[in-house]
Amino acid sequence: MRVAIIGGGCAGLAAAATLAERNISATVFEAAKHLGGRARSLEWNGTHLDNGQHILIGAYRETLRLMRLAGVDEAHALLRLPLQLIQHKQFHLQAPSWLPAPLHVLYGLLRAQGLSYGERRAALFFMLKLRLTHFRLPHDQPLAALLTQHQQSERIIQYLWEPLCLAALNTPISHASAQVFLNVLRDSFAQSRHDSDLLLPRVALSELFAEPLANYVTSKGGAIHRETTVSAITRQDNGYMLTVRDAASHFTHVILAVPPFRLAKLVADLTPLAAVAQICESYDYQPIATIYLQYPPHVRLPHPMLGLTGEYAQWVLDRGMLNGQQGLLAVVISTEGAHMKLTQEELADRVASEIAQAFPDFPPTLWRKVIIEKRATFACTPDMPRPSQQTSCPNLYLAGDYTAGDYPATIEGAVRSGIACAQEIPAS
Ligand SMILES: Cc1cc2nc3c(=O)[nH]c(=O)nc-3n(C[C@H](O)[C@H](O)[C@H](O)COP(=O)(O)OP(=O)(O)OC[C@H]3O[C@@H](n4cnc5c(N)ncnc54)[C@H](O)[C@@H]3O)c2cc1C
Repeated sequence: MRVAIIGGGCAGLAAAATLAERNISATVFEAAKHLGGRARSLEWNGTHLDNGQHILIGAYRETLRLMRLAGVDEAHALLRLPLQLIQHKQFHLQAPSWLPAPLHVLYGLLRAQGLSYGERRAALFFMLKLRLTHFRLPHDQPLAALLTQHQQSERIIQYLWEPLCLAALNTPISHASAQVFLNVLRDSFAQSRHDSDLLLPRVALSELFAEPLANYVTSKGGAIHRETTVSAITRQDNGYMLTVRDAASHFTHVILAVPPFRLAKLVADLTPLAAVAQICESYDYQPIATIYLQYPPHVRLPHPMLGLTGEYAQWVLDRGMLNGQQGLLAVVISTEGAHMKLTQEELADRVASEIAQAFPDFPPTLWRKVIIEKRATFACTPDMPRPSQQTSCPNLYLAGDYTAGDYPATIEGAVRSGIACAQEIPAS
């Protein structure tokens, strides 16, 4: 048995690690120099940055399990904060650490600052109704419509639901799938209090997941080939031929863990996958912009992570408090918007002036760096088709954040899909 995994992002590495755990060696082919795909680190002018500031939550059970398997010390790698959502000077929700789920969220909502009593009550009733219906909708619909049906005010949408939706689904609430949003609420708020914890990386993203998993895979006999693009897959009697650098290698099992926008070309010779390729070609994507602003080292935010309600900046994280990069702030802007029409310099200027407005005591920035991932995630819209991990090609599976599952495009969604593929492969 020879197993190939095409793509060394979270999904591909989760598949490889799950196979390694079962003593099955796989060969991972990754086109880029660095592993991690859309969750990776890079170096810029001698500074370690991530391709985008990532946030995990306590409900990412499989991601956390694989990190432990690969020897990652959670306390060192992640800052765990009990649920808190703070919109600078506007809104403050903190779930108490002495109440079990879901009471901690309900209590937090009832005590939230920045909303009227009526607004907090409406949010509370909304959560109670969702719980009574097990967070299931009779039919999917845009999140904005669901919120209106449940009398959620403009303010509570602006301070609470919209920022949560952007952070989780990276899709505007007018288009976002209400059901997928409710899946995330269910998993983070309804079971254990720790599921709603925010987990902020304290190490470079690659050190958090991709590199430890790759080391685990190789320590168990697997192989990882970086800068190795698979350019074609063809069917053979007992498996598949993969074309790599103009040479062909034979594998009995293949896990395709590439992003959906790379799939169609790769499976062009596999007729049974034509329908899946067509689904992937129909996807829309949403960008995420991360604007790094370096201030002098003494500059600090009042909290490690803060929401902003200005025109552009949505979240700002203090990398000094997280991983010791003193004075470095990471500002996150999810989804399409007016910011995508600006040049990177203009965007950095606008964001820096929003930060200056919010924190008038801050000195000028020392440098700025904008990273825009144009196809950060698929647009998570109601009832969007998502292909299953199993395909009609025998022993060929699909892994990736876009494949069937409860989650939007997230690390946990990708990881779960990789695990599901690996579990399909028998031991011998
Ligand atoms: C800026 C940004 C911020 C984000 N923030 C969060 C967050 O806060 N929380 C969260 O949970 N998620 C977040 N996400 C989403 C998360 O990063 C992705 O859902 C996840 O990393 C997707 O993993 P994947 O393995 O499915 O795909 P990918 O990461 O895209 O991996 C696919 C891999 O396949 C490789 N590949 C492609 N074609 C070939 C080929 N022909 N041969 C070999 N290799 C190939 C690619 O180079 C890539 O490494 C964010 C994403 C971005 C971009």
